[in-house]
This record gives sequence, structure tokens and C-alpha cells, in this order.
Amino acid sequence: MGVTSHDSIPSLPASLLTGQKALVTGANSGIGRATAIKMGQVGADVVVNYVEDEEAAKEVVSEIEDFGGRAYAHRADVANEDEVVTMLEAMVDRFQTIDILVANAGIQRDAPFENMTISEWQRVLDVNLTGQFLCAREAIKEFVRRGVVPGTSNSAGKIICISSVHQLIPWAGRANYTVSKSGVQMLMETLAQEFSSRKIRVNAVAPGAIRTPMNRPAWETPEAEASLVEMIPYGRVGDPEEIATAAALLASDLLDYVVGTTLYVDGGMKLFPEFLHGG
Ligand code: NAD
Repeated sequence: MGVTSHDSIPSLPASLLTGQKALVTGANSGIGRATAIKMGQVGADVVVNYVEDEEAAKEVVSEIEDFGGRAYAHRADVANEDEVVTMLEAMVDRFQTIDILVANAGIQRDAPFENMTISEWQRVLDVNLTGQFLCAREAIKEFVRRGVVPGTSNSAGKIICISSVHQLIPWAGRANYTVSKSGVQMLMETLAQEFSSRKIRVNAVAPGAIRTPMNRPAWETPEAEASLVEMIPYGRVGDPEEIATAAALLASDLLDYVVGTTLYVDGGMKLFPEFLHGG
């Protein structure tokens, strides 16, 4: 057993999101991929958004179809207004509506602050923050137009923003990323406040260290992983499926009274683990 081993995660009820239509952005890799598959497993029809690597997106679609789900892949850059508008129009055309948005697409472009270029700064904000704004705006238009559909869900729509522990924890060399994620937190809370009375629930999942391509150097060698695990009180790196499970639960009526909350799924990473042995 390695330092990251853990028992398998129990399954969610197979009908948790039956009849609902979900859009997952950046769904051809990592957390988005696991979330799209999880949404399909628990009964949602899924739009698998991607911006590059169409093959990987098609594999996610096939995996959902293999267990009897409905899905299709849609290429759109979440930072591009026209492409996001078209993606949502296409979804309403094909699936009639949207019930769940998982705004997951994200990037890192790390650089020491004094060397960070305007394009490294801007692109991270464009994808991680403006991308969430655009997708949320278009989804909310449809939620408001359609309202609650009795028998489908108690709410008129759910948005799950995939944020990060770095909405809270500063991270040297990643000023663009931390600022984008703290922006996501305030966007999420403001939307939750603005739209709860219309039965739209907006929440976030803030992952800690999850084993995905984005942070491969941090876990791909035993030495790197051991050093990473020192920052995680629970003693292991997380799996994309654990974020997917959190997102599916937040999207479901099981958590219908959860509004404007960030669910940290981080093995305790935000608990200042350095203070375990001193201070
Ligand atoms: P990943 O690189 O595997 O996945 C990111 C996905 O976003 C990819 O599919 C990528 O193609 C897509 N994407 C990038 N730019 C896009 C754009 N302009 N339009 C559409 N899609 C785009 O990484 P991941 O770890 O799965 O990251 C997913 C989310 O989780 C990100 O928002 C990331 O910030 C967040 N997160 C990850 C971790 C972690 O430890 N992996 C921790 C905290 C937060």
C-alpha cells in the first residue's frame, strides 16, 4: 500500500440525478472527466465540454454511453463569449434544457511574480474566472426562463464551481491562479445570494491535491508525493472521483438546503498542517 492508498468510494444512488441535464466544462481530463462520468452514472444526460483533444472527449462520451447514459461532446473555449453562448444554445436544442452546470475548466501558468507576463496573468483569469462567469450567466438565463420542474428537482438549477484550496491559501509563484480562485469564491457567493430566491443553488467544491495531469509533477515520483503528503493531514493525495462525488451530491436534492457554500475536499490541506508539530 502506498501513502495514497484508500478503500474504494461507495457508490451514489443510481437514480440520484435521473432526468437532469448536466454540462461539465473541461470534461475530457482529470476532475472534469471523472465528474462527467459520475453524472452519467447517476442518471444525468451529459454535455462533455472540451477545448482540445477531441479524442479524449469522445472516450468520455463512449464511457457514459457504455452504461446506458446519454452524452455528447462539444468543443468550446469557456473564455470565449460566442463559443459559450453557442454551446448553451446547442445544449438546449439537443437536451431541451440545462439543470446542472459544473464549471470545472481551469489552467495554471505559473511564474515568479516579477517575471509573470501579462498573457500568463490574463489567460488564467480569462479561463478560470471569466469562463465561470460566462458559463454561469448562460446557464442562469435558462434556469430563470424554465423555473422549477416538479418531479425533476426541487430547484430550478444548480451550479457547482470547481474552485481550489487556493481560494484561501496564498501560493507563491501562482498569483494569477490564486486570484482567479478567490474570484471564483466571491462570484459563487454573490450568485448564490442573487438567485436563491429563484430556487437556483450555487455552490463550490474546493479540491486540495488531486491526482490529475494538472499537477502531475507534484505526485508522479515517490519523493514528490511524499513531500506533497506532508501538507495533507489525512495522509494521502485525492482522486478525481472524490471531487466528482462531491459535485454530484451538491447537484442533487439530497443537499437541497446547501446554498452558497464551499465544500473543501482536501484531506484537511487548508488546516495549516505545519502547526501540527509546533507553533
Ligand atoms: P486537468 O488539466 O486534468 O483538467 C483541466 C481541463 O480544463 C482540461 O480538460 C482542459 O483541456 C480544460 N480547459 C482548459 N482551458 C479550457 C478552456 N479555455 N475551455 C474549456 N476547457 C478548458 O486538471 P484538473 O486537475 O482536472 O483541473 C480541473 C479543475 O480543478 C481546475 O479548475 C483546477 O483549477 C481545479 N483544481 C484542481 C486541483 C488538483 O489538485 N488537480 C486542485 C484544486 C483545484
